[in-house]
Amino acid sequence: MIQLYIPLNFLGTLYREIKQSMADLSRMFSLMDKEREVADAPGAQPLQLHGQPDVCFDNVYFAYEPARAILRGLSFRIPAGKTVAVVGASGAGKSTLARLLYRFYDVQGGHISIAGQDIRQVTQDSVRKAIGIVPQDTVLFNDTVAYNIAYGRAGATQAQVEAAAKAARIHDFIMSTPQGYATKVGERGLKLSGGEKQRVAIARTLLKNPPIMIFDEATSALDSETERAIQQELASAAAGKTTLVIAHRLSTVVDAHEILVMDAGQIIERGTHAALLGQGGRYAEMWALQQSSDA
Ligand code: ATP
Repeated sequence: MIQLYIPLNFLGTLYREIKQSMADLSRMFSLMDKEREVADAPGAQPLQLHGQPDVCFDNVYFAYEPARAILRGLSFRIPAGKTVAVVGASGAGKSTLARLLYRFYDVQGGHISIAGQDIRQVTQDSVRKAIGIVPQDTVLFNDTVAYNIAYGRAGATQAQVEAAAKAARIHDFIMSTPQGYATKVGERGLKLSGGEKQRVAIARTLLKNPPIMIFDEATSALDSETERAIQQELASAAAGKTTLVIAHRLSTVVDAHEILVMDAGQIIERGTHAALLGQGGRYAEMWALQQSSDA
């Protein structure tokens, strides 16, 4: 009996693995469909920017899967050169806002516009050129660290790359690696920690110097001393830029022009830090909780 059981058990495992691979494959194809879905509209022109742009989310609906709405009628505006911060529980849909603004996906209802132009009507390339993203989890290319930083700006000089790396507090670390800026990083090179990767992404964005910035929990993988130092750099990099900050640590959003508190795909509170504290609602609760855990 046991002789039969082992091969059958093995076959069962094999079957499950094949089934999982098929599921992964079909997921990959559906992701490729998504890529096609965000193709440029026929005759799309580049985004026109005259000075600092504003960003507008107008009654935005979005679902990754039809049965589960992630954003349900969301509206807010980031005035030109101001910072709007988004906070809220995990899974509320905060990072989805960043993905939609960068046009990884298209909205299914409402509009997103930059400087009054619907981002579905202009070229995707011009939208992405206008935005710098520091994502939660940076994927590095299998290339040198210099290439990874310079990627944001074609033709950047070594001096410009190093200045951005210094501002992102990653220069000293790079100099300590075997070949400095020529050290290969990524899957097949030197493995960097989450915080180091994030600092490379910050350097890349500082170098790109775009009019719109998205920081998606930009400092979440950093220790608190580095975090404070980088926050100062980010604040000066974001000064005068139209910025969307998605944050877990409320200390990073205190100075925002407006703070949006999200829950289950909707904005449940909005206002400045002082106004929200005064309301004594969810934000005030989150603030009190974070103060006590930081103490
Ligand atoms: P966190 O603070 O944990 O990063 P978040 O508020 O940024 O969370 P999102 O990443 O926007 O949340 O995700 C919102 C919801 O959408 C989550 O329930 C998540 O599981 C789901 N989701 C995210 N990406 C996909 C995807 N590619 N396909 C299907 N569902 C997704």
